[in-house]
Amino acid sequence: MLRFFPSRILRAAANTLAHPDWSKTLHLPRSTFPARPKAAELQTYRQKCADDLYAWQATARSKTTREADGGKDVDNEFVLHDGPPYANGSVHAGHALNKILKDIIVRSQLSRGKRVKYQPGWDCHGLPIELKALQQRSTSGKGNAARDAGVGLSALEIRQTANALASKTIDEQRAEFKIWGVMGEWDTPYKTMDLDFEIRQLGVFREMVEKGLIFRDYRPVYWSPSSRTALAEAELEYDDQHKCSAAFVKMPFAQVPSALSQYEGIDESRLHALIWTTTPWTLPANKAIAHNNDIEYAVIELTIPGAERKPADQLLLAKDRVEHVLSFLPEGTTYKSIIGSTMGSELSGGDATCLNVFQNSHSRIVPADFVTATTGTGLVHMAPGHGMEDYSVCQKYGIGPAFAPIDDAGCFTIEAFPGSSETLTGLFAETKGAAAVLETLAKPSHASTSPSLLASHPFTHKNPIDWRTKKPVIVRATAQWFADVSKIKTRALEAIEAVRFIPESGRNRLKAFIEGRSQWCISRQRAWGVPIPALYHAETGEVCMSDESIGHIIDTIKVRGTDAWFFDAEHEAVWLHSSLEPGKWVRGKDTMDVWFDSGTTWTSLGPRSDATKPLADVYVEGSDQHRGWFQSSLLTAVATQDVNEKPKAPYGTLITHGFILDGEGRKMSKSLGNVVSPVEIVSGALLLQQQPKSKPGKSGKVKPQAVPQKSKGRSDSLGPDLLRLWVASSDYTRDVPISQQGLLGVQQALQKLRVTLKFLCGVLADHDSSTTLPTSDDVTLADKMMLSALASTSREVWHSYQHYRFHEGVREVTNFVNADLSALYFEVVKDTLYAGVAADRQRVQGVLTIVLAEMLHWLAPIVPHLIEETAEHLPASMKQGDLAKPLQRVWTKSYVQTAPAHNELVATFRAISAATKIAQERARAAGKLGSGLACRVEVKSHPSGGSEMGINDRFIQRTRSLLDSGELAAMLVVSQAAMVLQISGSTGENDTVGQASTADWSFEEPVTVKLSSNSGDATDFTVGSVVVLPPQQSKCVRCWQYTAENEELPCERCLRAVNEKKP
Ligand SMILES: [Zn+2]
Repeated sequence: MLRFFPSRILRAAANTLAHPDWSKTLHLPRSTFPARPKAAELQTYRQKCADDLYAWQATARSKTTREADGGKDVDNEFVLHDGPPYANGSVHAGHALNKILKDIIVRSQLSRGKRVKYQPGWDCHGLPIELKALQQRSTSGKGNAARDAGVGLSALEIRQTANALASKTIDEQRAEFKIWGVMGEWDTPYKTMDLDFEIRQLGVFREMVEKGLIFRDYRPVYWSPSSRTALAEAELEYDDQHKCSAAFVKMPFAQVPSALSQYEGIDESRLHALIWTTTPWTLPANKAIAHNNDIEYAVIELTIPGAERKPADQLLLAKDRVEHVLSFLPEGTTYKSIIGSTMGSELSGGDATCLNVFQNSHSRIVPADFVTATTGTGLVHMAPGHGMEDYSVCQKYGIGPAFAPIDDAGCFTIEAFPGSSETLTGLFAETKGAAAVLETLAKPSHASTSPSLLASHPFTHKNPIDWRTKKPVIVRATAQWFADVSKIKTRALEAIEAVRFIPESGRNRLKAFIEGRSQWCISRQRAWGVPIPALYHAETGEVCMSDESIGHIIDTIKVRGTDAWFFDAEHEAVWLHSSLEPGKWVRGKDTMDVWFDSGTTWTSLGPRSDATKPLADVYVEGSDQHRGWFQSSLLTAVATQDVNEKPKAPYGTLITHGFILDGEGRKMSKSLGNVVSPVEIVSGALLLQQQPKSKPGKSGKVKPQAVPQKSKGRSDSLGPDLLRLWVASSDYTRDVPISQQGLLGVQQALQKLRVTLKFLCGVLADHDSSTTLPTSDDVTLADKMMLSALASTSREVWHSYQHYRFHEGVREVTNFVNADLSALYFEVVKDTLYAGVAADRQRVQGVLTIVLAEMLHWLAPIVPHLIEETAEHLPASMKQGDLAKPLQRVWTKSYVQTAPAHNELVATFRAISAATKIAQERARAAGKLGSGLACRVEVKSHPSGGSEMGINDRFIQRTRSLLDSGELAAMLVVSQAAMVLQISGSTGENDTVGQASTADWSFEEPVTVKLSSNSGDATDFTVGSVVVLPPQQSKCVRCWQYTAENEELPCERCLRAVNEKKP
């Protein structure tokens, strides 16, 4: 419709306009958007996009919304409960992943109209901080701080130092977290060392006592001699290469099993049970010997060359293990079988015992299912004070107590060998103690006997170690406080059925940890923690843990604080409830397991307006928290709930993320030198140092730079959004790699987003945003293709954010920006935007307004600093409208396109475009073509009415349709396009019948379309060709398209555009 404009009038008008410089009549993008965010401005954007935004929504968004149909108020609040980072050490990439992921989740909910709540917290108590505090206090700063604990330091001094250390760390970490744009209640975080927190935690403990879930018991626990405290299973790591001395030890029978004594040849004075142990230091604590009823046992008589004792020893052991044992004995050792075999079941019953030579006591022979005939001798030495299984077997048979003659430092006490106190007392049990035990056993205990030690050998096995000190952990019976998980397990498992897990595999993991747990040892023998509110009778040792006493202690702590518990005089009466006799009771010194502290952080969450909802919508932490925080939070929450009501987890959705690895999949460690610091990423220092060097490739050629070399001395920082976009682009459900190379890619992606937003702001500078957006009737095919891509991207982004799969959303956004927007649409519409007539410019600007508005929705949760900056540089007219405060907008639904482009028309364009690009490349290679505008395109069709389902006819129709709308040349970004029909037929106005024009040069490429057969296979079918030729017209002085009549004056379109501007 525009092509028949009377150009003569315009040309005459143009002649009267003296235009020395036509470029001044172009509408080039105008924007104040800088190339890089300035540091000072970043701070302003951070204030606006984090603190101000959080404060705004906390008051502006209502806590409830009225349900449209039901007419009742429903909870509009989204609560993400912070898993407290440990208040120790500087921030690392793991913190960045954790905190930014949380922030992206919170912001994505905010953008859906929710009022969000995120109160950050810190886990403050516990051994690592205590150890660090002790190291600080010790003058040398060296040595084993844990072992030196208490030397010259009171509990109060330790607590004060630890408190100061935690407070300092919290301030440092908070400052970094805020720099990342993480928004939340930073001025009022919860801290597990705050008095109000401690009071709430003690309240949970009190309720558990009231429900009979807390008990004290003397039983084996994991004990870390290096930390001098009991450890929870969650605090263990394992050393696969632990070296020890294993030993075959003969335990003389004090009372031979009656089933054996009847056999001829058995000499009761020479008969021994042969056991094998990897922990010889536990032998002084032996209380029983276990066998298996289903194993065959033999009694053999051993003759060892050079052995002094005659006649030889008789040994009871599993029949299948005889050869194994012989392999550890000197060459020439022989044996004869006294009893070929007897079933283990025959050994059971009766009152058979062996002698414990250290205690001069008798140890019973008992059956146990865990004994096998695949290791050792088929007879197992049992020390209930040093083994969980030993303890439960001995409990079953009433054998006790759980004897453990080892002190807190892991050294033998005098009880280990009362008959010879100088032999073992004070020796570190696992090393020197074990050696001394073996040495003792290697000597005959009296003249008539042979040594108890048959053989010893080095052995390597898996052994628990302390997760902090990395030193071996032993099992040791001590008096500890326990939470009885077995009583709440079923309810806890029921509660997680209603929880959504991301990824779903987390469900079974958490289930397995809960199922495998029965008792939770919650007492620790350290100073830096919440006291266990137990009182002990000074004379009898009786324990007071009554509800009224705990209530009184909590009230006293409210007034005096927890420190007073540690520094008050031993008999201070203020701590005693009136029912207790003053002067008789003393306060216990145990503190609570830090997992109990952090497990009760849900007490800092307020009630929901919708009481059926869990306290928090989402918990997000690393996948190691299934055995830690997720579990302890669930257990303490369920423990305090009314047993008559349905149990409820404190979280509705449980999201886990992986750990940070380097680019090669290794863990980050200082020793490997592969630690990537988030501070360096945000400052830009990391990528500035790590610009990829140009290395010769395999061919010997220098590869092009991955990114352009930056000028020296200029800060290259894109700010915290780089770190945020890295988090958002990562599939956090697995371990997440971080490397300079990867970050360079993220930086390029961020830079692309930045220049795209800048370009949009620039070309929309003179757009009248009050005009109505284009409707489907007045948009072009290119516009429709753009809006179609926008709609499908928007749909994908919407769904991926909905399901917390941010990396999928970010991938969609990146693809859209690179391919659909930048490489295609911008190329097509640039000419219209810069040089077009007002109506066309208005239409494209309308489309781009829709694109900008939608992109701001997508990017708001991910790169809020960039979005705030975009708002700052929005075209003046938009600053009044909906886009003025993009982070406050509500994304109610993904963009929907009302009238999509005709699929076949799009396919036809794409086929022609692909052929054109190849032909242009050939022309460039031949030196005939520079700019793509310096050519015209002729589309040649094959004869009409071809055999393949009328495909030729349809191609002609579609191409003609593209030509008739006048946009094919623009879409191909060439100066002209026309069609040549190879046979006669009805022609359109752009068609030329007959041969293609003659020209100086031409490059022809076939146009192929995909045809799918009935079987679903797609085959290429050639429908015609594209010929790229030199332009027939002159280069327009204004728009540089080859559409002008001469080189002096602009083309007809430009004349109209210029004339329009100055009527
Ligand atoms: Zn022009």
